[in-house]
Amino acid sequence: MNYYSTNGKAPIADLQKAVVKGLAEDRGLYMPEEIKILPKVFFDNIQDMSFQQIAYNVASAFFGEDVDLDALQDIVYDTLSFDCPVVKVKDDIYSLELFHGPTLAFKDVGARFMARLLRYFTSQTSQTSQSSQSSLINVLVATSGDTGSAVANGFLGVEGIHVYVLYPKGKVSPIQECQFTTLGKNITAIEVDGVFDDCQALVKNAFMDEELNNHMKLTSANSINVARFLPQAFYYFNAYARMKALGKAENLVMCVPSGNFGNICSALFGHAMGLPVKRFIAANNANDIVYKYLQTGQYEPKASVQTLANAMDVGDPSNFARIINLYSQNNKLTDVATHHRITNLISGATYSDDQIREIMRQCYADTGYILDPHGACGYQALADGLQEGETGVFCETAHPAKFKEKVDEILGIDVEIPERLAAFMKGEKQSVPMTKHFEDFKRYLMQ
Ligand SMILES: *Cc1c(COP(=O)(O)O)cnc(C)c1O
Repeated sequence: MNYYSTNGKAPIADLQKAVVKGLAEDRGLYMPEEIKILPKVFFDNIQDMSFQQIAYNVASAFFGEDVDLDALQDIVYDTLSFDCPVVKVKDDIYSLELFHGPTLAFKDVGARFMARLLRYFTSQTSQTSQSSQSSLINVLVATSGDTGSAVANGFLGVEGIHVYVLYPKGKVSPIQECQFTTLGKNITAIEVDGVFDDCQALVKNAFMDEELNNHMKLTSANSINVARFLPQAFYYFNAYARMKALGKAENLVMCVPSGNFGNICSALFGHAMGLPVKRFIAANNANDIVYKYLQTGQYEPKASVQTLANAMDVGDPSNFARIINLYSQNNKLTDVATHHRITNLISGATYSDDQIREIMRQCYADTGYILDPHGACGYQALADGLQEGETGVFCETAHPAKFKEKVDEILGIDVEIPERLAAFMKGEKQSVPMTKHFEDFKRYLMQ
């Protein structure tokens, strides 16, 4: 399968190039040239299949032409060594718990899948290449918290790949910091004396520096990477299967708390592959750029504001370009026609921090279910928007213990920290101190 750029000015790429490059030459996002519709028999039997079996079917449709099928099956099964249950919260509202991965983040699936796919490609190349040049791939990732832990853990111990996680000193939560500074092996944490934007600037400068790129192979594990975002579609097919097993798959509404819009975008790809979902809701916090687009047809990015649901604090969601491209049929339709197609399928919701607190309290009091601030937006969008005869599934995108300080304070409880998370906190922190000046970072990488 080939991949084209949403900006339409870059050469077509094969899967390997799209994964290694991340972003196309014209700064556009890669899109698969074809979205295969899955056969009826798959949907007829889906309720009897495991998460892994379902995911393998979906993965074959995306990657089956480019990856040996046995290897693809290993990649999928190895990626999904955890569960993705749906839990009834109240009436017709169900929580799709995406937080059972190693770092309790839904980003674990994309990060693990990408690591294994890259490993597959590098092992292919090293078998065929005569060159003795090091095939070690260096992954650079800047993080304000969650992405760093998912990527670091996803790539941990993967041969042939070294990961550098750049994070702003003193600006990530203690739990998050432990998740990427205590791992060792092929993971190096770089503690930058600066803010998140400084970390991002260091990474961007590194990709543009010719001397550095001649010296070592650099790759980004950014969330726009096709190998990180497409596998998230597995979640939605699994959700449908579990709801079908409960006899609740008719008139299904799926609601996704959204920041960069990668997760919901993967759900929309699922829909394009035939997943029987009636409609989608994109839930925003106070960063309501897409909400406003859905209301008005005008897309006006702006600086993000800080909220309780900080993984959704995005002022110019990068994957929005993919959604536009999907529904404009690669820019063949007018803006008005595209907006019309999008609003026929997707509606929006937006919640302030005060509302998020109230939602969490109300849901806990009514049902005993502990929402995290991100999931709270999803839950309430269904509570507010579900119509007669519809059943809703919202993504609970993070385990509440990941935002323990906030959740404890808002609900007046003591959220239990799962064993897996606690284990990270026992490890010894190791990081490389770094200034925010590119010359220092470059000198470090060159030696
Ligand atoms: C990353 C993240 C989101 C936002 O997902 P997008 O794919 O960027 O829309 C929501 N909630 C949590 C907890 C996250 O980590």
